[in-house]
Amino acid sequence: MDEEGIEVIKGREVTKIISDKKKITGVQLNDQTIINSNNVICNADPPAVYEKMLNGNTNNSFLFKWKMNRMEYSMGLFVYYFGTKKKYENVEHHTIKFGNKYKEHLDDIFNKKKLNDDISYYLHRPSATDKSMAPEGNDCFYVLVPVPNNQSNIDWSLEGEKMKNLVIDKMQNDLMPNLKENIVEDFYLTPDYFEKDLNTKHGSGFSIQPKFSQSAYFRFHNKSEVYDGLFFVGAGTHPGAGVPGVLSSAKVLDKII
Ligand SMILES: Cc1cc2nc3c(=O)[nH]c(=O)nc-3n(C[C@H](O)[C@H](O)[C@H](O)COP(=O)(O)OP(=O)(O)OC[C@H]3O[C@@H](n4cnc5c(N)ncnc54)[C@H](O)[C@@H]3O)c2cc1C
Repeated sequence: MDEEGIEVIKGREVTKIISDKKKITGVQLNDQTIINSNNVICNADPPAVYEKMLNGNTNNSFLFKWKMNRMEYSMGLFVYYFGTKKKYENVEHHTIKFGNKYKEHLDDIFNKKKLNDDISYYLHRPSATDKSMAPEGNDCFYVLVPVPNNQSNIDWSLEGEKMKNLVIDKMQNDLMPNLKENIVEDFYLTPDYFEKDLNTKHGSGFSIQPKFSQSAYFRFHNKSEVYDGLFFVGAGTHPGAGVPGVLSSAKVLDKII
């Protein structure tokens, strides 16, 4: 970006994408600065962008409103990052543990939108393959627990600590003896972080669900179906979430523009 003379503005938020009827004219930042532009390429979550940054003004496009209203959202994520003062050499770089009631658990996450003690989790240990990730003799991890997104109304200020203790107990029983007493640093993210800090709708972890009726043409388009000059890359647009998908969306957009 430096080579191409692109200016990067950090520590500020886009509060508004400005348009003149259907034509994009620029963006407004949270310090009131206005940046004029014919094109805006956005990697924030499209449903939240259409609702909040364009003031819900979808130019009375009936079809688009209908599409927005029937969208279904991916799960939320509870992500607990921690460092240990001992090494757990038995733990691989990637570990996935399924709870016993795996199917019921999915039903709780997606349909009943409630928490369940019989969690499944993905444990990531980057220091297994990259020693520079933790000080010598220590280890670093994150563990990801799929949970309902914020359509659940779960109060994460109460449930966050409980979920942390639950997942520590599970990992301690499953594969990391004496884990609790070996943790030296930690913090966790809940769907509230995804909703409030990353601006995703309902605090979903991966934007809208990647099901057939929300994929390809049926996903949010890379070239906005409502505004001229508005473009999307990232998890909520075509082709979808995950780093390869997100990078592909940038390649697709490069061709479109
Ligand atoms: C714990 C975890 C593990 C994952 N592991 C993998 C993995 O192993 N492999 C894989 O392929 N994928 C993985 N993913 C998924 C992958 O990280 C995401 O799909 C991808 O990062 C989404 O990219 P994005 O650009 O759409 O959104 P983000 O990476 O969320 O970037 C959007 C950015 O826009 C910013 N933003 C939002 N609104 C505004 C605004 N108004 N003004 C300014 N900035 C704003 C946000 O703060 C954020 O930084 C993982 C995700 C998580 C949470």
